[in-house]
Amino acid sequence: MNTEIILEPGDILYREGDANDTAYIIDTGEIVLYSNAMGRRIAFERRGAGSIVGELSVLTGHPRTVTVEALTPCRLFVVSAEEILARFESLDPILRACIDTSIGFTATLTRRMNEGGSDIPLVESTLRDAEAVTERFKLERDIVLGLERDEFHLVYQPIVDLSDGGVVGVEALMRWEHPVLGTVPPVRFIEVAEEMGSIGRLTELAVSDACAALGRMRACRSAGEGFYVSVNISGKDIERDDFAAFVARTIALHGVDPRHLKLEVTETSLVADPLSAARRLDELRALGCGISIDDFGTGYSNLAYLKSLPLTTLKIDRAFAGDACRNGVSRSIVTMLLGLGRNMGVDIVAEGLETEEDVAMLRKLGCRFAQGYHFCRPLAESDLLAFVEDLSRRAEAA
Ligand code: C2E
Ligand code: CA
Ligand code: CA
Repeated sequence: MNTEIILEPGDILYREGDANDTAYIIDTGEIVLYSNAMGRRIAFERRGAGSIVGELSVLTGHPRTVTVEALTPCRLFVVSAEEILARFESLDPILRACIDTSIGFTATLTRRMNEGGSDIPLVESTLRDAEAVTERFKLERDIVLGLERDEFHLVYQPIVDLSDGGVVGVEALMRWEHPVLGTVPPVRFIEVAEEMGSIGRLTELAVSDACAALGRMRACRSAGEGFYVSVNISGKDIERDDFAAFVARTIALHGVDPRHLKLEVTETSLVADPLSAARRLDELRALGCGISIDDFGTGYSNLAYLKSLPLTTLKIDRAFAGDACRNGVSRSIVTMLLGLGRNMGVDIVAEGLETEEDVAMLRKLGCRFAQGYHFCRPLAESDLLAFVEDLSRRAEAA
């Protein structure tokens, strides 16, 4: 099949009523779209370089509604219907329904203008997975309501120094006490909040609450000098122009030393636009906060962009760290990441250590910091304080 078509002025690309359904991208030249259907020639519009033509028949599967004629010498690239429909398939369902519905409505409009009629046709839903889509809207509505009703709070999981067993800091993890569903874990709502917009408010809550709790935790006799709180930040927060200013205000409000606040961003949330992410992270780093890359090893395997990020910590994902004592490949990846961390001069935290064997393996591989159910599950603030006190009492007794 031709991938390119050359037209001279006056050449017809296709005629009204033709059944073919190929679209074209105009590289050079200009074409005109017209119809003779009303008994006289009505020209609708001209299209030039960079425009597409023939799109409607592809999307509707109906014959051509207009004739297309070259006004100047033209070069067009052919885009097959299959190619366009494959792209259409992967569209966001709401966007797709918007396009489907407006195409349908345009056809209805023309038909009703011409034919009239007193019945009002009921249009079939074009929204794919309508139930799942409306569920997301409901969940977003409930998140916003939950924020107003104070249903979200943080729990804290200790991060441990493997060299002496001391707690060096905590990771703040969000929980939702839903009035009907009970405790909802973050995997059930963070993604929807990111997609639908409420993530900004959830993050602000997490940063504020964590900063407030940090003061109380650091006041605890057994919290070490460098004791920090690490808060999860979404890729959407990094995109915000005002995020660094928000963090700066919050730190000041709670009198937090920025060195005791770390912000965790997942590797995957940085890959969409690494350059602008690096700029934003620089702003946060300039405040004095630590920057952790979360779930390290699960995202983008191109490590080159790491050089441009102002990192202080890498967190090795549970998939590798928690698997290193059973699986040679995981062990090699952990070893490689530990070397990388050492060369970059950043701390490494191994995530998801559940057993004594996991801990022994990570210690043997030279990992300094770790987190996981083996040490402690995420705890409410008061339980966390008791846990840290108890740990240091036992250390003193030993
Ligand atoms: P994450 O940042 O990787 O957090 C670690 C998750 O692993 C937590 O799940 C924690 O409870 C769990 N975990 C800790 N140790 C172990 C272990 O030894 N074994 C196993 N199997 N799991 C362990 P959680 O609290 O359900 O959070 C899930 C994810 O939700 C987090 O993964 C993070 O990506 C996200 N998240 C949590 N809180 C927030 C938040 O405030 N903001 C944002 N943007 N995301 C959050
Ligand atoms: Ca995290
Ligand atoms: Ca993680």
